[in-house]
Amino acid sequence: MNLIFNIAKRKTDNVIQEIFTDSNFRGDVLFDEPMKGHTTLRIGGFADVLAVPRDAISVRNLISEARDKNIPVTPVGGGSNLLVADEGIGGVVVSTAFLNRMRVVEKLDDGIRLFVEAGSPLQKVVHFAKEKGYTGIEGLAGIPGFMGGAVKGNAGSFGYEIGTVIESVAIINPYGKLAILDPGYLDPGYRSSAIPDECIILSANIRLQKGDVHDVARRVKDFLREKRESQPLSEWSAGCVFKNPEDARAGRLIDEAGCKHLKRGDVEVSGLHANFFINRGSGRAADFLALMDVVKERVMKLFGYELEPEIKVVGRGGRCC
Ligand SMILES: Cc1cc2nc3c(=O)[nH]c(=O)nc-3n(C[C@H](O)[C@H](O)[C@H](O)COP(=O)(O)OP(=O)(O)OC[C@H]3O[C@@H](n4cnc5c(N)ncnc54)[C@H](O)[C@@H]3O)c2cc1C
Repeated sequence: MNLIFNIAKRKTDNVIQEIFTDSNFRGDVLFDEPMKGHTTLRIGGFADVLAVPRDAISVRNLISEARDKNIPVTPVGGGSNLLVADEGIGGVVVSTAFLNRMRVVEKLDDGIRLFVEAGSPLQKVVHFAKEKGYTGIEGLAGIPGFMGGAVKGNAGSFGYEIGTVIESVAIINPYGKLAILDPGYLDPGYRSSAIPDECIILSANIRLQKGDVHDVARRVKDFLREKRESQPLSEWSAGCVFKNPEDARAGRLIDEAGCKHLKRGDVEVSGLHANFFINRGSGRAADFLALMDVVKERVMKLFGYELEPEIKVVGRGGRCC
């Protein structure tokens, strides 16, 4: 059985290898890469291959070659909203980590237009805005991950959302074609956008307004302090596990359902913020999913709310909670 698996895997590896030679790929290619090291939760099996392209052309060629050869592609950014299956991820995982340039496109009378590549850490953008006194993204202070992940899930906090400052987004579609999406298409919602899962976000143009440098800095500082006091930022988590229902806070419901410190394996509901699950060291995706099930069931039984996941579950195993 193991032998059959190995032969099948070697065949897949060979096909995957061809993708890189046939596409003149520039970047890093890591076979059987442990995904743990690429997520803030530090959970997950191996990716068949993790590709880290150095330029947009490599992304484009890679996507069309993968499509031709029927190999699935999974984009990842900073891995701060991801639960990777214990069984790992089949096909090619594309990390945007090397696409991390940011530059001023235009200075306007009332603000600035910035070009930000998908692999730029979101906090690099927040820091730039704070230093220069541009307003619009102060509430995003402290949110980990990259610009691409933030755009895809319309990251937000304290009433601020990345979607409100986006002017356009450049993507590679599953056919390997470049497309520029305008805000009308993006339709940013609560932790969602209309960008299809099969697309790779390359960059975004954002527009920030001129503000008072001291006011902006003070707001960033205040939001950061509030975040640090209310969320377990230094522990291994993937942020909020569940979305807030329309008229309630998921964290409060989970807390009131008596779930704080509930554990499955080495995954525990945080005592500081009940909507954060912490990997205490050797947590597995199966433990995480089991804990989600228990919490969901308790909240449903006690309060009648059907909690929906905010985290993205990726990889083999078929379960998408
Ligand atoms: C301590 C902590 C606090 C957090 N606080 C907040 C918060 O206040 N508000 C909030 O909104 N989130 C929060 N998060 C969640 C997370 O940081 C955000 O959702 C973040 O924007 C995800 O970005 P990422 O680059 O890490 O994406 P990833 O986790 O790598 O990916 C998330 C999803 O986006 C897709 N994706 C990533 N990059 C691309 C790309 N280039 N093209 C196409 N698809 C892509 C992935 O396939 C996946 O489906 C928190 C997380 C942690 C760990």
